[in-house]
Amino acid sequence: MATAETRVHVAEFKNEPFVDFSRPENKRSMEAALKKVEAEIGREYPMYIGGEKVITTAKMTSTNPSHPKQMIGVFQTATAEHADQAVEASAKAFETWKRVPAERRVEIAFRAAEIIRERKFEISALICAEVGKSWIEADADTAETIDFLEFYGREMLRFAGQHPVTPQMGEKNYLIYIPLGVGVVIPPWNFPAAIAAGMTVASLVTGNTVILKPSEESPTVAAKVVEILYEAGIPRQALNFLTGAGEIVGDALVKHPKTRFIAFTGSKEVGLLISEAAGKKTPGQIWIKRAVLEMGGKDATIVDEEADIDAAVEGVAAAAFGYQGQKCSACSRAIVSEKIYDTFVEKLVDRAKKITVGPSEDPGNYMGPVVSSMAMEGILGYIDVGKKEGKVVLGGERAPGDGYFIQPTIIANVSPKARVAQEEIFGPVLAVIKARDFDHALEIANDTEFGLTGAVYSRNPEKIEKAEEAFHVGNLYLNRKCTGAMVGAHPFGGFNMSGTDSKTGGKDYLLHFLQAKSIAEKVSN
Ligand code: NAD
Repeated sequence: MATAETRVHVAEFKNEPFVDFSRPENKRSMEAALKKVEAEIGREYPMYIGGEKVITTAKMTSTNPSHPKQMIGVFQTATAEHADQAVEASAKAFETWKRVPAERRVEIAFRAAEIIRERKFEISALICAEVGKSWIEADADTAETIDFLEFYGREMLRFAGQHPVTPQMGEKNYLIYIPLGVGVVIPPWNFPAAIAAGMTVASLVTGNTVILKPSEESPTVAAKVVEILYEAGIPRQALNFLTGAGEIVGDALVKHPKTRFIAFTGSKEVGLLISEAAGKKTPGQIWIKRAVLEMGGKDATIVDEEADIDAAVEGVAAAAFGYQGQKCSACSRAIVSEKIYDTFVEKLVDRAKKITVGPSEDPGNYMGPVVSSMAMEGILGYIDVGKKEGKVVLGGERAPGDGYFIQPTIIANVSPKARVAQEEIFGPVLAVIKARDFDHALEIANDTEFGLTGAVYSRNPEKIEKAEEAFHVGNLYLNRKCTGAMVGAHPFGGFNMSGTDSKTGGKDYLLHFLQAKSIAEKVSN
């Protein structure tokens, strides 16, 4: 049976290489891109509903967390009525877009990947300015965006066409995968390009139409992604773009009877609201809405007494403080064997003292700002709680500058049940917990409501095997850090309150956006 995969020749998927900023030409390109972003500052971006540009009287703005007075973009403020119009327009466009051959939809995804590759520095510079990522972190976000486009394109070719099933005598039978309908895509701000593009393109290549409602913190990066998708050939009717408050426009989109599915990545609190709203039938609704929900984490690294301590220190420091700890996969608990606890803490503090904090456009700063003043207040509040629940052995304060800078903070002697050991802080704050032995460490690691990522450092193969079996996380890393999942290599998604384990960047992901139809025809022999 000829499948789309065999009709269209594509090279095997490979991850997009990271930019080497130690090369002078790359450094110059990034500096030039940052200047270009600065020149575009304050630009106003429209919304798109049913192919038309929409402008509202009320505006919202996005600012640079390294320099809060610097405005990045001006945006429209959608209402519930706009949400309604967008879903109706999307439902209409679905009738056309679903008939576009998979190969054509995939071609557009590949073209978009190509455009992003050509404009890589510009996208990374914008990420750096809008959400405070360092050059390296911003480049990783851009590379992951390209990876999602390339990977889901190839995946769609695999799902397209007729799929063989067990043959039946006197029948021609097979299975096809068809799209669902109108999808609402609600991303967070912390991977403003990769997650927004990943969920949007997964929905579109599978033949669904989309309403993308970006985070209030990162609408400019999302607007760029949308512009690129249009330029690549996605019809404007197939992709609507609505900016506004999540609790107003996001909520209205989720509850609309013609919404067929929701792809959400964000906090546990909002994920649960969406799960509940999606589960409630509204008048006129004729399906069970699907909700693909990727949520928070309280990720742990276990450091066993038989570990390479220096490697563990390096891995924990990178996973706890990379992008200021604002990754769902960030290490926020180090669970350390009591036999090496003091040595580990001492070495970790020495290592983390070397971390530089300041404006993210300066490549000399390893850590930039946290995303907003609200995020900063929340994190500082948790640090105050931590001061009572343990001993602050590093940081614990704001770092100098006008931006939302917080020192890398390590809180030692934390009990496994403490709030700073149980609740997602989403900032540069690490709780260090003492374990009696490896079994105790695993017990502590599993004792939260989350289950996203986890790491174990040990040279003992029996302990590694035990962790493989008993550490209950969607993404387990052994003798390496718990951040930095690569598309294709580490399908990503968590257990328990970390979400629906949809495994982004994996072979199962597109099935969330498709439904299978079995066809059997009686034939005469
Ligand atoms: P958030 O939950 O505050 O917001 C996420 C999105 O939901 C935003 O677009 C927001 O506008 C929208 N929203 C808010 N209220 C809504 C409502 N009532 N109805 C519909 N939409 C609504 O999360 P955030 O601060 O943007 O992102 C950080 C969170 O995301 C962290 O908890 C982090 O762990 C999580 N995250 C998870 C993953 C993963 O793959 N599991 C990846 C990245 C981030």
